[in-house]
Amino acid sequence: MTCRFLFWSASLTTHPEWDRLITSYVLSNCKRKVIGVTSNGRYAVAMSIEAVSAEPSSAYPTIAARAKAPRLGVTVVADLVDAIVRGDLPPGSSLPPEAVLCEQFGVSRTVIRESVKRIEEKGLVTVAQGRGTQVLTAESWNMVDATVLSALVANDATLGILDDLSDVRASLEGVIARDAAGRRTPEELERLREALVLMRDTIEDEKKFSAADVVFHATVGEMTANRLAVNLVNTLFGQARESARFHLHSQLDVTLDEHEQVFAAIEAGDPDAAEQRMRAHILDAWERRRPPSPRR
Ligand SMILES: [Zn+2]
Repeated sequence: MTCRFLFWSASLTTHPEWDRLITSYVLSNCKRKVIGVTSNGRYAVAMSIEAVSAEPSSAYPTIAARAKAPRLGVTVVADLVDAIVRGDLPPGSSLPPEAVLCEQFGVSRTVIRESVKRIEEKGLVTVAQGRGTQVLTAESWNMVDATVLSALVANDATLGILDDLSDVRASLEGVIARDAAGRRTPEELERLREALVLMRDTIEDEKKFSAADVVFHATVGEMTANRLAVNLVNTLFGQARESARFHLHSQLDVTLDEHEQVFAAIEAGDPDAAEQRMRAHILDAWERRRPPSPRR
């Protein structure tokens, strides 16, 4: 139990020597924290802030990412998720007690309880009655959850999660392009052509070119009936786009050529070619951007 304010009294002893010993003990053990001592005869009082603790907070990993300050539950959830994904709280370990978390985050027990409930819903921990809150293995985590995925990307030292994301995105976008090629209308095709022209026109400006690239993919997404595939791509790729490592320079002329080929397949109404070219584009584009790092 951590004590924010300790009021210690030695007045119960009857021997001045004991008073002196106890007072000096308090002074030496709470030295930096003692804010006042009075002593007259048999009476000694020491007051300290953040005094002796039978269960010191330092025994638990510091989870709060920022300096101690009151904050909203949503940032408590993000910090807890981050600590688990980073491995500061490994699978099988227990979450620090509520009191310690309250202390670290500067929030009430209600906020901590709500936050733990949120990370339980994300599959990161399980709350066992009487046994505290245990961290689960990665197999149980909901990796499509925005907070979990964002923490995975942020702590992805080997780029493993970004490699996985590219694989998944290539498959999904392949399915989307296949469907688009099979059902495209003249109006949709015209909009896709406009997106492609925008890419051509902005090839000298990487930022504008990247924005036009996003418009091209979104337009293909509007041409499919598979809303689930589009939704998953947006959820997964939205996270990858926020990662700084995804923004490295790539060969824009090669990228443009890949889009020309995807467009030609969709225009020709060739589902097989559309799927294959879109797949290849996503995988090759990631290979061009991918910083050198050993694969798993
Ligand atoms: Zn693209």
